[in-house]
Amino acid sequence: MVLGDIGDTSLLFGSKDVPPVLEDNARGRSPFLLTCDHYGRTIPHILGDLGLPASELTRHIAWDIGIAGVADALSTHLDAHLIAQRYSRLVIDCNRPPTAASSIPRLSEATVIPGNQGISQTAADARRREIFDPYHRRITEVIDRRLRDNTPTVLVSLHSFTPAYAGVARPWHIGTLYHHDTRLPPLLLKLLRAEPDLVVGNNEPYAVSDETDHTIPIHGEKRGLMNTGIEIRQDLIADQAGQKQWAVRLARIFAEIEMTLRTQRLV
Ligand SMILES: [Zn+2]
Repeated sequence: MVLGDIGDTSLLFGSKDVPPVLEDNARGRSPFLLTCDHYGRTIPHILGDLGLPASELTRHIAWDIGIAGVADALSTHLDAHLIAQRYSRLVIDCNRPPTAASSIPRLSEATVIPGNQGISQTAADARRREIFDPYHRRITEVIDRRLRDNTPTVLVSLHSFTPAYAGVARPWHIGTLYHHDTRLPPLLLKLLRAEPDLVVGNNEPYAVSDETDHTIPIHGEKRGLMNTGIEIRQDLIADQAGQKQWAVRLARIFAEIEMTLRTQRLV
């Protein structure tokens, strides 16, 4: 384990670090705009491994296991623009308000994150400025452009959840997460519940709130876009075969939703 320099450095990235934002299919014609806050588990070189063993850095506390493969394939199937974030949620969580205590978690589930203990405001600001801000700025820019061009835009925020949290098993295969939008989530729920093999969570295993979420409240609700979050259980998408299967299934469901929204003239 290498606990990097977490002192008062105001520069997070060096020449070897990749940009935080990853985009796919930027010219995609689908009304669905896909986001993926916990796509990657990269750590800036200067932070070492945050003082954690590899076994912790591959767990769900570091990223949304399996969702990257689903997001990539779904973007292709739907011809939808995907905006994803490459850095670990342990560096900074891009789906938390930066003011929330869990934005740079000192503890995740039962794991203490040594590299996040007692960091300076300057170091916390650097994580926000170099990872969180560019990612959300890019989503804002893309939504701005789409609205300017009168391109219909439905925000879909992709996540995955751990099969057991703090020792409690979760029965759902997939969950929809929503807050105020009353147009898209009921449609999505209806179609997911029509799949005979699925246990579907309705705002389970999480519900969206302004305190615990950022992407849906800021880019969906505040912009007046139809929006939903999706959470897929991680054991179902742990390998490529599962990721492909789920992408195909969701692509079929979203194609049906798009048809319905078109007949209702909502897109
Ligand atoms: Zn997530």
